[in-house]
Amino acid sequence: MNIRKNQARLSRAEKRRFVNALLTLKRNGTYEEFVTLHSTFFLSDQDAGSRVGHRSPSFLPWHRRMLIEFEKALQTVDRRVTLPYWDWTQDRSPASSLWAPDFLGGTGRDLDGQVMDGPFAYGSGNWELKVKIDENPFLRRQLGLSPRAPELPTKAEVESVLAIDEYDTEPWNSTCATGFRNHLEGWRGPNVHNRVHLWVGGQMATGVSPNDPAFWLHHAFVDKLWAQWQRRHPRSRYLPAESTDQVRGFRATLPPWNDVTPADLIDHRRHYFFDTDFFPFRGREDGAANADGRGGDGRGGDEDAA
Ligand code: ZN
Ligand code: ZN
Repeated sequence: MNIRKNQARLSRAEKRRFVNALLTLKRNGTYEEFVTLHSTFFLSDQDAGSRVGHRSPSFLPWHRRMLIEFEKALQTVDRRVTLPYWDWTQDRSPASSLWAPDFLGGTGRDLDGQVMDGPFAYGSGNWELKVKIDENPFLRRQLGLSPRAPELPTKAEVESVLAIDEYDTEPWNSTCATGFRNHLEGWRGPNVHNRVHLWVGGQMATGVSPNDPAFWLHHAFVDKLWAQWQRRHPRSRYLPAESTDQVRGFRATLPPWNDVTPADLIDHRRHYFFDTDFFPFRGREDGAANADGRGGDGRGGDEDAA
């Protein structure tokens, strides 16, 4: 059973195994396929054209499938590995253990933003970028330095987005004034998902964002927020039910896989669980019940007010 854990609770061994699996996929070329996949769709997804991965209702199921594929790839290296999630409402500082040298490494140097420590520093010899938007072969980050994203989204901001009842709305793109999806994606409201990309900076702020392994942890959390929203709005449905000429309906296949629909992806528990899915207390729909017994201490709790 795949259980995705909060990265702040990973053991040293779990971090080591995750990093090792990433480095193995990098070495055998698999990693670049995912960067290319994301970049291709990022470029073609347009407000006024066909759009699947971004600016569209299928933003959430499309990334969910991408993460499932990536998690499977990691498990070809080590079947114990699952994608950790980064709860940036909690771990919101460049000093968080997420950015320590034993995990993702830290921010970039002033000169050029190059990440200088950790397993994904260019100097380590293990993380040369191949799918690039400029000449630089090195991973870059500028944590918290973007004037457009000086702070990560807060818990209160996320709550305001989770409170939105309707999944999505016409015209099903980045201009929707209402709708959970567009607010979570970040084109309207407090800017949730997009802002985290900007806060990390470097490649994370571009279409080749999966070059930074932080991409997976960020999107695993965005994916988890979708699941939380579903619990909170049990009568809300994926929209649109039917496809339009530009976006995919509930039972339309999603490229590039073309063997999966939003309907197939609507329940994450068919594919994996979150550590917070196991909650022993009645009356709280979601929360942290963890092996370390710290469940309910507020640190990882996502308990709903409803
Ligand atoms: Zn994306
Ligand atoms: Zn993203």
